Parts: sequence; structure tokens; C-alpha cells
Amino acid sequence: MSAPTALRVHPDDNIGIVVRPEGVKPGEPVAGGAAVLDATPQGQKIATAGIEAGEPVIRYGQVIGRALRQVQAGGWLREQDISLPEPPDLDRLELATRVPPDQPPLEGFTFEGYPNSDGSTGTRNLLGITTTVQCVAPTVEFAVQRIRNEILPRFRNVDGVAAITHNFGCGVAIDAPGAEVPIRTIAHLSRHANIGGRSLIVSLGCEKMQPARLESPPGSGLSVLDPAPDVIRLQDRLGFGAMISSICEAAEKRLEELDRRRRTQCPASELIVGLQCGGSDAFSGVTANPAVGFAADLLVRAGATVMFSEVTEVRDAVHLLTPRCATVEVAQRFIDEMRWYDAYLARLGADRSANTTPGNKRGGLANIVEKALGSVAKSGTTAIRAVAGQGEKVTAKGLVFAATPASDFVCGTQQLASMNLHIFTTGEGTPYGLAMAPVVKVSSRTALAEKWPDLIDVDAGRIATGQADIESVGWEMFRFVLEVAGGRKTWAEHWGLANGLAPFHPGAVT
Ligand code: CA
Repeated sequence: MSAPTALRVHPDDNIGIVVRPEGVKPGEPVAGGAAVLDATPQGQKIATAGIEAGEPVIRYGQVIGRALRQVQAGGWLREQDISLPEPPDLDRLELATRVPPDQPPLEGFTFEGYPNSDGSTGTRNLLGITTTVQCVAPTVEFAVQRIRNEILPRFRNVDGVAAITHNFGCGVAIDAPGAEVPIRTIAHLSRHANIGGRSLIVSLGCEKMQPARLESPPGSGLSVLDPAPDVIRLQDRLGFGAMISSICEAAEKRLEELDRRRRTQCPASELIVGLQCGGSDAFSGVTANPAVGFAADLLVRAGATVMFSEVTEVRDAVHLLTPRCATVEVAQRFIDEMRWYDAYLARLGADRSANTTPGNKRGGLANIVEKALGSVAKSGTTAIRAVAGQGEKVTAKGLVFAATPASDFVCGTQQLASMNLHIFTTGEGTPYGLAMAPVVKVSSRTALAEKWPDLIDVDAGRIATGQADIESVGWEMFRFVLEVAGGRKTWAEHWGLANGLAPFHPGAVT
């Protein structure tokens, strides 16, 4: 089956996206009966009907902007030909007016996981070492190298060591608004399901974020651990050698406990899957994200938790999401998170248009509205059951909106505080991975999967060329996720790719 010249996703659309990697040439037919007027590269927009200056440009059945000049049917509509519309008014949204009914449950799907005493379930068995401040990070990395080389080989049931290092912990107004976000995030990371619910803590001694702040920070819902976690305070040690040996001794003790864990059959409902996109292109919204959305529906039907995030990428599609919230209260919380982020950006002199990257634009995304409409396809079609604020842990089942920035590594860090598995869609491509949870990478174009066969786990580009459909790729992804949750390695894990943690800190640095 040959690829169509220009792909339209909704019958109301007056543009199509060029599918073929080599682009299209003048004279080729376009949906709607016109012929291509300009040689147009892959991912770019072709008008499928004449559009007058000032008329709406429609994709996904939604207005993504207005034409800044007249374009004939078959003409190439470039980024600079489309205006950026005002974002939806947060005071005039429909709340819980179109709540989707429950879809039939999916029974009998399981994965081999590690149940924890706190009720969570791990998909990996890792030793976690939390740092309270950036100052100790290189010392911890030094110790981790020694643990990996000299101690870990004796503990065959443990998958690895994760250093929870970050840029936070000192030189900040620790009690000022905003600091609670990274504190909560780091506290949840220290109790992660994939490190058995507890970690060693390495502290410097004089830092602002003392270990006690991680015990049960306000708004975290965490209670104090019993027994308390081992804390190693570097300023109490006599020299670097003693610091390293005390970290290694504590690590060995914890590894003995972790080594006794075994995978057992767990219901798919124990999965907490974070969805994210990065390096998006014009195909993300028609291939990878809808296929992830289909898989998200399957996961929800199986009783799992599915998180979607990235405030600046849902802001322009919020009018499609608040009607889907399960209750008026959930919809109101959704709006509160949008409002908080609008204010955060305004305070820093930015707005949501700052989100799109040069790569997004090269990939055919004209503006943040088009990017957002494609991005929210990841959320599938089920009701939005709950909203989690910045740095809060997701506890509800079903589809949840967890408010995070859209930055890949910041969103990933914040989602990681809750999730035991990550699905990441990409168009331009990124080798992104995390140390503490497997990352399943999904390409929006087959050309990317062919260019990076040793980094992309699932190719959703086959949907654009007609070789597969959203449903079949969605099912494939659902089954693959269960396998990965049970221990199958992703490409990022195969290569040991682990991006640094970047907790979001909207507060003051001193
Ligand atoms: Ca992102």
C-alpha cells in the first residue's frame, strides 16, 4: 500500500500532512481533488482546500491558528503563514459535561513484578541511594562505581544501583513557596517501588535540605519509615576513604535484603505508567500518540494507573479535557493547575509559545496549539479520574493528569516519583532513558525507527504508511509494556542510558 500524499486526520481539516519521506512534487493529487502546487517536504502542511487570509487553519477538527495569507488548494502552508490563537479561557470551560462511560474491563493480564510491603509493586529490583544535596553527588557516584564493580556481582537478583542525585538541597529558600515541589519529588523518589520502597540517604551535614525534611514532607502523604533509613553524613567521616567505605557497607547491608526479592505474578492493575513525548513532529499526533492513547485505554481497562502530564502541552487543548473529567471537582483541580502554570510563566516573562523547539518546527509543528492537540492524543478516551499537583504522588487508579513542566527530563523526574514504567514518544528522536524505571520509546515515523533500530522499542510510523493501524500498534504496545514490566530490557536499559534527575524547583535560589 503506497503512502497517501497528504494525511488528514479529521473530516473538517483543511490541511493534510505530507507522509512520504522524500516529500511531494507539484502536480501530485491531494485529498479533496486538488494538485500539489509547491514541492513540499515530509511533515509539512498542504492546504486541501483554498484558505483565505484570516480564515481558520483546521487540524484534528480544531482551529490551530488563522492563515496570515491566502493559500490555494495544494499550496504549502508554512509555520510563518499561521497565527497563534489565544489560549482557551479558563473561566469559560465545560466541567465534567462529557464524562466517557467506563469501558469493559480487561481481565487476566499480568506481569512478573516485585510486590513491596507498602503496597506498591516494582518492575525492577534496584538499590537506591538518595542524596540530600548536590554537593555529595560526585562522592556518591564514586561509591556507586565501586558498588557496581566490587559488591553488586555477588547479588545476582539485584538489577543495579540508582544514585538519586539532583541539583537541589542548598542555596535555596527552603521554606519559601515552590521549594515544597522538589522536596516532595525527592522524598517520593527515595521511596520508589523499584528500590523496594526505601533507600540509603547520603547527606553532607550543613545543607538546607536536612534528611529529616524527606521523612514526611507536607503534602506528600508519606509517613515516617520504621525502621528509619540509614543516613550517612559525610561531614562526620574522617576522610574520603571513610566516606566511601561507609556508603559501601550500608549498601552491602541493603543489597542483602534486596537480593531476597523474587518476581511473582502481579495483576496489570499494579502498573503506574507515565506518558510523555519529546522531540515531537507533525506525525506524533497521528501515529505514536494515538497508538499510546489506545494502549492507555487498554491499561485503564486492565485496572492500571496511566499518567499524562506536561502542562504547556495540554493548555491549548484544555477545552477538550475538562469535559472528560470524572467530576466537577477534578475538572476544577485541572483548571487550578493550568492557572498556577500560567502565573508561573507570566512571572518569568514567558508564555506557552516558548514551548515549541526548532526541531518541532522542522518536523512540521507550526505552533503550540498544533503540538498540544497532538500531545493530548496520548491520554486516550477514558474519563480523567484525578489530578495530581506539582510534585504530588499519583495514588488514584485509571487515567490521571499529573501536572508537570513539559521539559523531558523535568517531566520524567516528576513522573518517576509515581510511575514504575514510562512510555515516551518521539518524532525527531532522543536516546532518553531513566535509571529507576524502564522507558519504552515509540517513534512517530518509520524513518526514525530505521535510523535508530537500537534505540527505538516500538515503531508507530507504520500507521502513517498504512502498514498497521492505531489499534494493532496499541495492542502491541500494551503487550510489550507487560513484558518490560516483567523484566524484558528496553533499548535504553540495554545501553545503560540514564538521564540525570531534574526535580522542578519553581522557588527562589539564594
Ligand atoms: Ca516532554
